[in-house]
Amino acid sequence: MSLLIRDVELDGRITQIYIEENRIAEIGKRREADVVIEGKGKIALPGLVNLHTHSPMVLLRGFGDDLVLQQWLETKIWPQEAKLKPEDIYWGAKLACLEMVKSGTTTFLDMYFHMDQVARAVKEMGLRAFLAEGVIDLGIPSRAEEQFKAAEEATRKIEAMRSSRITPVLGPHAIYTVSEASLLRFREMADKKGYRIHAHLSETKREVDDCVAQHGMRPATYLDKIGFLAKDVIVAHGCWLDPAEIEILARTGTKVAHCPTSNMKIATGQAMPYAAMKEAGVVMGLGTDGAASNNNLDLFEAMKFATLLQKFSHRDPTVLPAAEAFQLATLGGANALGIDVGLIQPERLADLILVDPRRPELTPRHDDVSNWVYSAHGNAVDTVVCDGQVVMKGRRVKGEAEILEKAAQIARELVTRE
Ligand SMILES: [Zn+2]
Repeated sequence: MSLLIRDVELDGRITQIYIEENRIAEIGKRREADVVIEGKGKIALPGLVNLHTHSPMVLLRGFGDDLVLQQWLETKIWPQEAKLKPEDIYWGAKLACLEMVKSGTTTFLDMYFHMDQVARAVKEMGLRAFLAEGVIDLGIPSRAEEQFKAAEEATRKIEAMRSSRITPVLGPHAIYTVSEASLLRFREMADKKGYRIHAHLSETKREVDDCVAQHGMRPATYLDKIGFLAKDVIVAHGCWLDPAEIEILARTGTKVAHCPTSNMKIATGQAMPYAAMKEAGVVMGLGTDGAASNNNLDLFEAMKFATLLQKFSHRDPTVLPAAEAFQLATLGGANALGIDVGLIQPERLADLILVDPRRPELTPRHDDVSNWVYSAHGNAVDTVVCDGQVVMKGRRVKGEAEILEKAAQIARELVTRE
């Protein structure tokens, strides 16, 4: 199949983007194509990459805000999650995909449970996703066995759906929920089968303090010492990394997803040390985290919050300028995942969005990148192409009304379910 995006603005000039199958084949020449999209008046940007989320948590959006992390988890989130059925996860993921499409995200890295249901949703919604079945063993060997069994089962099912858009990932939740033996088992599985690993790291001060008390060293140092860190590992947060840990991440090639909105909402107390990490050459991307701690999946908003949080915490308005924030949400995430999205160039995967600049908050156009980062919301996105397929056109997505209705009904029913 071929697709032509006609007369669209790309990097300041009007051009033609020609896509063959799932890759950008040519830019500049107007060619015959099976499908033609009128790009007049629109601007083409790379599809955004959400490097850390828990997509089905949209079902718990707005259910228990403004609480301390532990209280929030113990009284609100975990009791609800314990009741979730596979079908709930499926509809939650459908809603999350819908929200991501409508705000310009084409790729996401996800961790939750029943992830084969998320794969089903992703397959239908046309997005590109890296899916990690989360494992939490709490240091209990029998629980570890159960969890690995469930994870292997889910991974096998996702593997059966594997495509250019769907990739299974391993998901040890964090050092404070997963034993050393299990972490090493994940390392071995990744080495043997070539899976990426996704985990949380250094989110709160408590995690650091507990790790120092238990292992005599900080979280990243501990993970390095046991041989866990490598270039196939993508960790979320990294708020409390110290200079030695930053060096470790740079040396091992470990990637980091910055999640500014969630960090501020949960009040982790310290921002990811972006400037030092950039200086050290750590590969970074941008994540929203789950909708229960955000509360949306809008990466346009995340770009703005990332730059504001970094400026504020460094007490320096020159830190994380707009162009770098935009890069975090595009090429940064692409590089972290090792896929060739994030730029609109021939031979790259055809993941791109068309933005309509004729909006009050995007006028005037002194600096488009400034507008995307500081002024735009996801609703400026008009059209989304992922893997060479049109998944949204004129802000319309197939099945939207049913997804909204069904997900709302499930979420309502979930919180009253015994
Ligand atoms: Zn998370």
